[in-house]
Amino acid sequence: MLRQDLCWQAVTKRDHAQDGRFYFGVVTTGVYCNPSCPARRAKRENVRFYETPEAAEHDGLRACLRCRPGTQPGDDPRAKRIQAVVEYIEHHSQGKLTLDSLARIAGLSPFHLQRKFKASVGVSPRQYLDACRLRAFKSELRSGEGLLESVWAAGFGSTSRVYERGGSKLGLTPSQYRSGAEAVEISYLTMSTRLDLLMIAATDRGLCFVQFGENEAAMEEALRKEYPKASLRRVRETEAGQLQAWAGTIRDYLNGKQPDLSLPADIRATAFQTRVWNFLRSIPSGEVRSYAAVAAGMGQPQAVRAVASACARNPVALLIPCHRVIRGTGDPGGYRWGLERKQALLEMERERAAPNRG
Ligand SMILES: [Zn+2]
Repeated sequence: MLRQDLCWQAVTKRDHAQDGRFYFGVVTTGVYCNPSCPARRAKRENVRFYETPEAAEHDGLRACLRCRPGTQPGDDPRAKRIQAVVEYIEHHSQGKLTLDSLARIAGLSPFHLQRKFKASVGVSPRQYLDACRLRAFKSELRSGEGLLESVWAAGFGSTSRVYERGGSKLGLTPSQYRSGAEAVEISYLTMSTRLDLLMIAATDRGLCFVQFGENEAAMEEALRKEYPKASLRRVRETEAGQLQAWAGTIRDYLNGKQPDLSLPADIRATAFQTRVWNFLRSIPSGEVRSYAAVAAGMGQPQAVRAVASACARNPVALLIPCHRVIRGTGDPGGYRWGLERKQALLEMERERAAPNRG
C-alpha cells in the first residue's frame, strides 16, 4: 500500500529518488507522471497515486510527455527497437517488406510494432516505407516532380480528395493586418492539458492565440508581443463566458472526445498564409499531408518552403492543424510547439479516427 502523505511529500519536492516507485495522476488533466516531473503541480485534491503505470492507465490516465513515466531516460529499449526498424526499412526499401518481418526485427507483435512505430516516428511503417521508396524513385527521375508529388499525395489519401477538400473553407476569416496598432480587447486564460499548459486568447470575433508552453509568464509575454496595443484581460477557466466555452471544446478535442475543431479564428495573416492555413483546415483529423502535397494541393508546387514557414508561424495551434503536415520523407518534420506534442497529437487523432485498427 502506498502512503498517501509520503507520496504527496515526494511529489511536492519533485523527489527523483522516488521515480519508478510510484506514479501520480491528475484527474483534471488526465495525465500521470513520475514524482520528479518538472510540470506545474496540481492541487492535492486532484491527485491520485499509483504503484504502476498500468494501474494509472487502468484509471483512464495517459502518460505525461515531459517525464515519460515508465521509461528510463536515455535507455528506452522500445525506442531502440523502433530505431532498428527505421534503419532496416531505410536499407531495404527496394525489397519486399512485410509488417510481420519488421515485427520480428523489433521483437514485438505486429500490432504493437504498428502502435509504437507510429508513436515514435509519427507515421506507420507502411507510410515510412512508401516515403523511402519515393525518395529513391525521385532521385532517379529528376524531372518528374509534379507527378511524384501527386503520387505522394496518393499515399496519404487520394489526389482528387486533396483538391476536393482543398476548396472548402472552414470559417477562417483573418482580419486585416492590424500592425499591433488597434486597441482591441483580448481576453485570455491558461489551462493545463496533457500536453502541458495551453494559453488561449480571443477578440470578440474569434480566437487569436492558441499556444502551448511550460511557463505562464513567458506565454503572457508572447501574447503581449503579438498584440502590443491590445488591452489584455485575464479570465478564469471556471468563470462563464465565450472563451471558457471554447476552452471546453479544445479540452474535449485534446482528450479525444471531439473529432475536430472548427472554432472561429481572428488572426492577422498575409494572403499567402491565409491560403495555406485554409488548406490545413481541410486536412481531416487522423490524416497527414507532406509540405509538398500541401503546396501542390494549393496549386503552387514550388512553394514547399513557404508552406513550411507559414506552418511555423501559425498563431493558433490545433485550430489550424499545422501538426498534420509532415516531411515528404515520412519524417515528422518540425512543430512550433515541439515534436513531442506534434507526435502526441497525431497519435491521438489516429486513435480516434480508427479506434479498432492497430
Ligand atoms: Zn510528467
